[in-house]
Amino acid sequence: MSPTEVTPSADLAGAVLTIDLDAVAQNWRALATRGHGADCAAVVKADGYGLGAAQVGARLYAEGCRSFFVAHWSEGVTLRDHVGDAAIYILNGLIPGTEADYAAHRLAPVLNDPGQVAAWSAWCTEHGAHPAALHIDTGMTRLGLSQRDALVLAQNPAPLRPIGDLLVMSHLACADEPDHPLNGEQLDRFSGIAARFRQWPQSLANSSGIFLGEAWHFDLLRPGVALFGGNPVPGNANPMKPVVSLSARILQIREIDGPLTVGYGATHRANPPAKIATIAAGYADGILRSLSNRGALTLAGHKAPLVGRVSMDLITVDVSEVPDTVLEQATHIDLLDAAYTIDDLAADARTIGYEVLTSLGRRYHREYVGLPA
Ligand SMILES: *Cc1c(COP(=O)(O)O)cnc(C)c1O
Repeated sequence: MSPTEVTPSADLAGAVLTIDLDAVAQNWRALATRGHGADCAAVVKADGYGLGAAQVGARLYAEGCRSFFVAHWSEGVTLRDHVGDAAIYILNGLIPGTEADYAAHRLAPVLNDPGQVAAWSAWCTEHGAHPAALHIDTGMTRLGLSQRDALVLAQNPAPLRPIGDLLVMSHLACADEPDHPLNGEQLDRFSGIAARFRQWPQSLANSSGIFLGEAWHFDLLRPGVALFGGNPVPGNANPMKPVVSLSARILQIREIDGPLTVGYGATHRANPPAKIATIAAGYADGILRSLSNRGALTLAGHKAPLVGRVSMDLITVDVSEVPDTVLEQATHIDLLDAAYTIDDLAADARTIGYEVLTSLGRRYHREYVGLPA
């Protein structure tokens, strides 16, 4: 059985998620400008950090972006229809034996170990050159060729020849902490090894890496979260434009005139007289449960803190400080906006903006601003 999903109109939905593709485009151009001549790719894995890889891809392709990165083959296949002939790199690598499936959609595997290099090389020898990336690990210890394997390949690059176009890349572990010594160590290691593969373009910087300085830029920038409004320089003013806003329906407002507790576990005791509003979004929609008793929400500029536990489909907020005249008119409350950003919500939920974005639920009505025609 294929999944059937009813997408609610804004009138019927619990919440409306607005995704501003004009802001994504502006962020992409701003990052590209910082690159001083380096090309700027877009990392749109996990369905464009939860915001729609097809929509984001189509808009950035229209802006001139010609390199995209996703994690999975299936994400690449979906994206292909929206980005013309742009390069699509598959970060999780090549599953040997599936070379034809990659080539059929012109997907470039990120070759992460000598076995993958050998498999892609053999396939290209038989079927003709087909692009790929070569990932060299410089300190993440996750994916990529070890320094030793990279040196062996540099000394005998014959397996790379049938592949044709190759991008040489590595990934930074601590770019969001500019003072971390690993940033310089990874730069030194990458510069050393990349010099042995000088005939191919090279790429090191993710969003935060772009802000470490020109030395980290090489030929291709690989921003993800900054495109979507996440702050690439934590602790400093966010240079990116916010992209998402989330407005959730107020289902009910309870007037509390006696001692009562709110929600599962009775973790919040309402102080009468109080007003508690129940809102149509919960942890099943990406309002992380760790936001229980912590979300610093506002309604029309008045404090409306999240109280009690986040439940699956609902949260409760204390709207006692919101004037009645405002409450009578209010149908929705913003869970994310320019004043309470993905990074703010993430800090309250003790996580990172990346997780907030990729958790955003499937039950929202989604509105895109700036979709290309
Ligand atoms: C996710 C990812 C990026 C983008 O990282 P951001 O911090 O979101 O900019 C770049 N390169 C690789 C290899 C990645 O996995």
